[in-house]
Amino acid sequence: MIHIIGGGLAGSEAAWQASSRGVPVTLYEMRPDRPTPVHQTDQLAELVCSNSFRADKLENAVGLLKAEMRRLGSLVMRIADVTRVPAGGALAVDRGRFSEAITSTLRDAPLVTIERTEVPDLSAAGNVREPVIVATGPLTSPSLSAAVAALVGREHLYFYDAISPIVLAESVDPAIVFRASRWGRDTAVSATDDEQPGVRCAVDTQGAGDYLNCPMTAVEYRRFYDALVGAELATVHEIDRQRFFEGCLPIEVMARRGEDTLRFGPMKPVGLTDPRTGRRPYAVVQLRQDTLAGDHFSLVGFQTQLKWGEQARVLRLIPGLERAEFVRFGMIHRNTYINGPSALHPTWQCRQDPSVLFAGQISGVEGYVESAASGLVAGLNAASLAQGELPQAPPRETAIGALGHYVSHANPSNYQPSNIAFGLIPVVQGAPRRRADRRRAVAERALSRIDAWRATLPEASPANHTHANTRALLS
Ligand SMILES: Cc1cc2nc3c(=O)[nH]c(=O)nc-3n(C[C@H](O)[C@H](O)[C@H](O)COP(=O)(O)OP(=O)(O)OC[C@H]3O[C@@H](n4cnc5c(N)ncnc54)[C@H](O)[C@@H]3O)c2cc1C
Repeated sequence: MIHIIGGGLAGSEAAWQASSRGVPVTLYEMRPDRPTPVHQTDQLAELVCSNSFRADKLENAVGLLKAEMRRLGSLVMRIADVTRVPAGGALAVDRGRFSEAITSTLRDAPLVTIERTEVPDLSAAGNVREPVIVATGPLTSPSLSAAVAALVGREHLYFYDAISPIVLAESVDPAIVFRASRWGRDTAVSATDDEQPGVRCAVDTQGAGDYLNCPMTAVEYRRFYDALVGAELATVHEIDRQRFFEGCLPIEVMARRGEDTLRFGPMKPVGLTDPRTGRRPYAVVQLRQDTLAGDHFSLVGFQTQLKWGEQARVLRLIPGLERAEFVRFGMIHRNTYINGPSALHPTWQCRQDPSVLFAGQISGVEGYVESAASGLVAGLNAASLAQGELPQAPPRETAIGALGHYVSHANPSNYQPSNIAFGLIPVVQGAPRRRADRRRAVAERALSRIDAWRATLPEASPANHTHANTRALLS
């Protein structure tokens, strides 16, 4: 028997995977008795915001992750494919039909018992020697959050997420942007097994300096400032209508405090000299490397609640970012998540207690697909534990394995949840130079590795899902 706390995307996928391997599962979901501020229904795997699972092509990392999940028999992918709605190159679903189908499939699965109750602590999930998956998401109930803090250490549990936008390094203009650290203070880079040669930013890769700097004249700053204070904010969920921590104020909130506030805050130019002019710029936007491969850079201190379209419009006014491609837009929302590198193994088992596994947003991943993907591996591994077998991590060359590697191996001192990105997957040595070809090479290798890994797993048995609807889904 395994216990899964939280019937969201991660918990539902974990329940499916474990029960498909013949292991009985109790899935605990606190809704509808204990609602959350964003869920609207009592269905499992409710999509709390967008109805999109993002890109569905192999040239995109989340497309590759989906392809791997399909090969591993993911319930979330199967139902998403059945309930998809037209959305160009993206996989978007009819959200009502999607969560209804997940709910009815798990309700009809003979080895899955759904209990509608809040689990207040980890012992309440049942026999502590039986594996427990914590998949309670960004809005984990307060009492369980306290229990998780006690397990992993209070300093390793966060409750708030301020995300700055991330741009593709290749889309930054190297004629304008220069590489430098403030006062020339660079981080000494030590060689680790995590370092990857290959994809690098087009901006002065040989130059010294940890940051890419976008310099602004007074005129450019004024134009940016006016656009920023006039830009439209995203609809804010009630939970987010809270006072922001001073340390992570949205840039638009800072800007409204006065025209120069940003120049003395995240856009301060001190300690930087623009090599084109030989002078200190009027203001600077700094970009910090965000992936080991160096293909993604985040805008330092630019957490924002502007609408995504508005972010693109306003941020492209920054010199050097006129053609920026955004890998992720900025956001601020409540988000309960653990510091994965301090608390998790790549099998999603907790370092402090390996019979407890974490999955979904609380484990330190970002996004619907990533949450379901972590649930998939956690479900398989909890089933292995229940059957007396050794849990396994998928190969790191796969998107699903790279996600687990990132969560368990990233720098713990500045840990941020991440979407899957090609920058997290090791490059293919000798791959072609064109970006699309490079990505195709990574995807081909990943799919062959996932097939080989799947062959090592115990077979999922349709006999564990006897209901007619479920058999139809499996056929
Ligand atoms: C406001 C907001 C908007 C988001 N929008 C997007 C988006 O548009 N696209 C995207 O890809 N990602 C989005 N995310 C991020 C993330 O992908 C989703 O939150 C996703 O639902 C995470 O899946 P999960 O399974 O980890 O958590 P959830 O889907 O939230 O599932 C967790 C479940 O656990 C239950 N639960 C909590 N505590 C307990 C307890 N103690 N006992 C029993 N049950 C409990 C909850 O009721 C919930 O059903 C958003 C997050 C937030 C907070």
